[in-house]
Amino acid sequence: MSQELEGQHRLILIGPQGSGKGTQAELLSVYLQIPTISTGQLCRSEIEHGTELGKKIEQWVRGGELVPDDVITAMLKKRIADYDAQDGFILDGFPRTVAQAEASESWMRPTKVIVLEINDKVAVARMTSRRACTQCRFKTTAEYVAKHGDECPRCFGKIVQRDDDSPEVIQTRLDMYHRVTQPVINFYRDRDECERFNGALSIPLVFMEIAHVL
Ligand code: AMP
Repeated sequence: MSQELEGQHRLILIGPQGSGKGTQAELLSVYLQIPTISTGQLCRSEIEHGTELGKKIEQWVRGGELVPDDVITAMLKKRIADYDAQDGFILDGFPRTVAQAEASESWMRPTKVIVLEINDKVAVARMTSRRACTQCRFKTTAEYVAKHGDECPRCFGKIVQRDDDSPEVIQTRLDMYHRVTQPVINFYRDRDECERFNGALSIPLVFMEIAHVL
């Protein structure tokens, strides 16, 4: 398990789907030289590799339902024990429930909780449009694919839409966010580590504002 060292960054990013968590996490990862750990990506990777765990969680992930707290927590604990996370890490997608936030207090106290706020209209528009490379995870938009085709400009892989970014599943995931994840913000809200940002602003502006508080 990752030890909580002095000066180590343990960042939590919280916000609805489409708020830019993944994008900001990637930028912060380069800036701080620590890995981004996306629990959604950990799930998708298990599914893509057809592991036993992947088969177990596939239905929940594809349907936009949450994976049970104990399963996701075990996956994350294993990941943050990896060598590259020993100097700190950025969490994208965890904690998603108050139970996860409470349980993780004993093994992972965040140094900053970064909340990205956007309204549902912006969230739906961004999720509907987002596309990513199946190989290198390069992120782009439906508009880019319409103009330039589905070949990834970075690795020549294929750019696709995520299964769970379909209109019905988007709504399920947003409802879940409001019902289950929003209370996680209240859990951290009164702490000094909690910082809120307007996720509707441009990517560089949000990044600069976050970097400023680190
Ligand atoms: P994301 O890429 O963060 O949107 O996550 C994709 C999917 O992975 C979610 O819809 C859930 O099924 C699952 N997932 C990711 N993180 C968590 C978490 N902390 N708790 C439960 N399920 C999760």
